Amino acid sequence: MLYYSTNKQSPEASLAEVVTRGLAPDRGLYMPRRIDRLSDSFFAGIDRLSFHEIACRVAEAFFGEDIPREELESIVCDTLSFDTPVVKVRDGIWSLELFHGPTAAFKDVGARFMARMLAHFIGRSGHKEKVTVLVATSGDTGSAVANGFLGVEGIDVVVLYPKGKVSEIQEKQFATLGRNITALEVDGTFDDCQRLVKSAFLDEELTRHLTLTSANSINVARFLPQSFYYFHAYAQMKRAGFGNDVAVCVPSGNFGNITAGLFAKRMGLPVKRFIAANNRNDIFLQYLRTGVYTPRPSVATVANAMDVGDPSNFARVLDLYGGDWQAICSEISGFRYDDDQIRDGITRVYKDYGYVLDPHGACGYLALEEGLLPGETGLFLETAHPAKFRDTVEAAIGRSVEIPEQLRRFMDGKKLSLGMTSRFEDFKAYLLSR
Ligand SMILES: *Cc1c(COP(=O)(O)O)cnc(C)c1O
Repeated sequence: MLYYSTNKQSPEASLAEVVTRGLAPDRGLYMPRRIDRLSDSFFAGIDRLSFHEIACRVAEAFFGEDIPREELESIVCDTLSFDTPVVKVRDGIWSLELFHGPTAAFKDVGARFMARMLAHFIGRSGHKEKVTVLVATSGDTGSAVANGFLGVEGIDVVVLYPKGKVSEIQEKQFATLGRNITALEVDGTFDDCQRLVKSAFLDEELTRHLTLTSANSINVARFLPQSFYYFHAYAQMKRAGFGNDVAVCVPSGNFGNITAGLFAKRMGLPVKRFIAANNRNDIFLQYLRTGVYTPRPSVATVANAMDVGDPSNFARVLDLYGGDWQAICSEISGFRYDDDQIRDGITRVYKDYGYVLDPHGACGYLALEEGLLPGETGLFLETAHPAKFRDTVEAAIGRSVEIPEQLRRFMDGKKLSLGMTSRFEDFKAYLLSR
């Protein structure tokens, strides 16, 4: 299958090219040329299939032409080493729990899949040198990517993070791993980290000596596999007796997760409609209201993984609907919540139903509470484990949150970060000396 750029200025590219490149040369996002509809019989029998069976079928539709079936199945099954269960919170509102992976957030799915797909293409092209993945992180992306790539043959990962600006639990998840993962503690801000990574990709001397790539969330191999759990969620809802009146609500920042859901719907998944839940960074909601897209600097909130002022996957949403604002509004609606509403939502849902939300999932829950229509059942994506946002959640529910086993494991690890200044010359010298 070939992929085109949303900016339409770059030539179409193969899967191997788009996975190693990330962004298209014209700075657009890659889109698959076709989105195949899956058969009616697949949907009729989906509630009798396992997560692995469902995901393999979906993966086949996107990647089947480019990766031999057995190899693809092993990438999918290796990626999905954990379940994504749906859990009833109260009558009419269910939670799709995406936090049972190694770093307790939904990004595990995309990061693990991308690592394995990249390793596949590197292995086939007979690459002699290692590929170095550079990733700048303000917290969650670094942990998902580092753990996704941990121990993957032929790939080294360098995570750059701002000193003193990520939580201890976040830092532990990428700075204690060792092996093929190096964490650089940069004396600067997240923007400095991002600048260092961007400069490295543009530096001719570096790119002559090293094969550099990014594991950014705009990568096709990171966002498309997220569609797997929408199908699996539908299968579970069907098994629980719910038909085709399910509205799916996605707490959104860069809009990669919801875009994967929109792809699933294009493939025939009988989801009724989507709701995008924003925090105060409500650029998308304003677009829905006015038809005008106006990016603006992000503001900090308690749901910080959604603090995005110019969602990169908006270009994919637009492209999917041919730029038709009304068509977008007919399938997606939006809501927004400020920090007080988020905290209050966490308190209330715990008190009334005993369910502990994280600040991102709380936005999703609140949007269903506000936006569900009569006869609809709501399913929101619980995108991270509440223990990852412990301070906010514990203050809201008035008790301590249990830290799940997979996160506790990191807490005992020894921090192995190397110090780094925010000067590009220093970062470049380090990369060349490795
Ligand atoms: C990344 C992230 C989001 C936002 O997902 P997008 O795909 O960027 O819209 C929401 N919640 C959590 C916990 C995240 O880590």
